[in-house]
Amino acid sequence: MFEKLKQKLKRVVERVRQKAETEVPPETPTEVQPKAPTEAPLEAPPTIPAPKKPRRGIRRIVKRVTRRELAPGDVDDIVWDLQVSLLESDVAVPVADKIIERAKEQLSGRKLGLTEDPKKLADEVLRQAIREVLVTDKKVDLLKLIDAKRAKGEPAVFVFVGINGHGKTTTVAKFAKWLMNRGYKLVFAAADTFRAAGIEQLEIHAQRLGLGVIKQRRGADAAAVAYDAVAHAKARGLDVVLVDTAGRMQTDIDLMDEMRKIVRVVKPDLTIFVGDALTGNDAIEQASAFDKAVGIGGSILCKMDADARGGAALSITYVTGKPILFLGTGQTYDDLVEFDPDTILNALFAD
Ligand code: GDP
Ligand code: GDP
Repeated sequence: MFEKLKQKLKRVVERVRQKAETEVPPETPTEVQPKAPTEAPLEAPPTIPAPKKPRRGIRRIVKRVTRRELAPGDVDDIVWDLQVSLLESDVAVPVADKIIERAKEQLSGRKLGLTEDPKKLADEVLRQAIREVLVTDKKVDLLKLIDAKRAKGEPAVFVFVGINGHGKTTTVAKFAKWLMNRGYKLVFAAADTFRAAGIEQLEIHAQRLGLGVIKQRRGADAAAVAYDAVAHAKARGLDVVLVDTAGRMQTDIDLMDEMRKIVRVVKPDLTIFVGDALTGNDAIEQASAFDKAVGIGGSILCKMDADARGGAALSITYVTGKPILFLGTGQTYDDLVEFDPDTILNALFAD
């Protein structure tokens, strides 16, 4: 995960180390005059402590050796490296700007003590700056949501939106398995009525998982299929309905109208955008388009296992303002991990 971005960030960290370890000229001394300000501290005779005042002299030497400060020019160079690294990794521009702003604030005029490791400082500053774009106030507790609906005797309804081929149907199946592992009873709604293959694919997953699918013929009204599935779940006392939808281009007006109709009819508890991390900025544009059309409550990014750049994962929360719920990390049903910013941060800053 994120190999390329990780290497780029390593170079930024190394740059911070180089800058921090370049000694700045000492301030003009007021009491004991050194021969020349550029002189190496240990060789400067005036800094050798006078017998009666040993401590003052030592303090001066220590001060000259430890005075490592990141000057504005240094910070600009570091920030430039960071900006290039982020944009080359397909991080969306406003997100890169935000990370840079935070890193700049933390690094500007930063002084390091003798024992402070500049690499560690750089790691921490970058980690914190990136963490800020990975979290949002809008928390989603899926199980709590399902339990609250169950207490009212209603199924929780989740509608999955996203572009075809990006992993939506597989993700619906993975999420079903995740819920089944937790003891919930569920049903699928095959609301991708645009493609016969879409319905078949969901049926194959349902068969493997031992789940029911509510479907109609190809070309049927997608909202009606979703409605039937909710009615079925209510009648059978099921806990959750997972609605798989069609996914043409996000610029397709008919598709967005179809999504709006499904949402209007079944009033989902959550509409989840499923994106392919490998598509980088495109995934972000898709998420924004679906959010604008139907209001997404969160995202799932698939194919994280194959994503070297990390741009989509770093950008999607900040751009949509909605949390990442899960990361898809492979092709089996168990390759779905609950999102935790540390999963991403640890992958980025592992040694
Ligand atoms: P849909 O058309 O959006 O429903 O996409 P599918 O669910 O059919 O997935 C398209 C392809 O992506 C399939 O071959 C999946 O196995 C694969 N896929 C889905 N999620 C992941 C993932 O997290 N990692 C990897 N490596 N492949 C995935
Ligand atoms: P429009 O009237 O066709 O524009 O449809 P909207 O996209 O506004 O959605 C119709 C209804 O579904 C409204 O009452 C929305 O509040 C509701 N809605 C939209 N998205 C969500 C969601 O993610 N969760 C929930 N619970 N309701 C939603």
